[in-house]
Amino acid sequence: MISIKTEQEIELIRESGKITYGVLSSLKDFIKPGVTSREIDKFAYDYITSHGATPAFLDYEGFPATACISINDVVVHGIPDDTIIKEGDIVKVDMGSIYKGYYSDSAYTYIVGKTSKKVKKFVSDTQKALYNGISVIKEGVKLNQVCSQIGRVARENHYGVFTCLTGHGVGRELHEDPYIPNYSNHESEGIILKAGMVLAIEPMFSLGTKEVWLLPDEWGIVTQDGSIAAHFEHTVLVTKDGYEILTGE
Ligand code: MG
Ligand code: MG
Repeated sequence: MISIKTEQEIELIRESGKITYGVLSSLKDFIKPGVTSREIDKFAYDYITSHGATPAFLDYEGFPATACISINDVVVHGIPDDTIIKEGDIVKVDMGSIYKGYYSDSAYTYIVGKTSKKVKKFVSDTQKALYNGISVIKEGVKLNQVCSQIGRVARENHYGVFTCLTGHGVGRELHEDPYIPNYSNHESEGIILKAGMVLAIEPMFSLGTKEVWLLPDEWGIVTQDGSIAAHFEHTVLVTKDGYEILTGE
């Protein structure tokens, strides 16, 4: 069952999304060599709570932090700790806010200092997949068109797509129906987008395998071949004529 949000609900998700966007955009200056992932997490916590919201991930199914901070071959769900960020790291920050009961969810991949051309292109392609997917959103479109747009970028560039990690509906809860795979699939063919749906679109690719291991902390998900992963996510409202990104400028 995919929920359709009312105008009032959308307004609250929009406010929540502004706070989430505020964190991820401020982190562009904050994340540099020498900071720890725990300090990044504290920055996110302080920002969210000082803007009248609550961190959506903290205590969610027992997750111990405000943000998932996943470095290099960690794809998602990295737990912030005393790891020091260094030149050349690829740092993914995934987080959400709850504002007056309503959720937003967004992620960004930060390149710390200099990296290879190949990695730069890979990160920018993953972001391009997010916007390509979002670009086709509109009432009446099949969800699978979004999935196909995302998956095409990975296929054309031979990136790994993690079949076990997907986007999702969001708003009243952090995770709602439907699942949104990052590749063309049969199930999403049967889902027609309607105005008022709110979707978390989130391509996650690797420069190698699509196979992952769960880390011993039982949260972090890492590529089996140690290849670098990237992740971008926005919370997006479906409208009659198109879409509105609720976690962007
Ligand atoms: Mg997220
Ligand atoms: Mg999400």
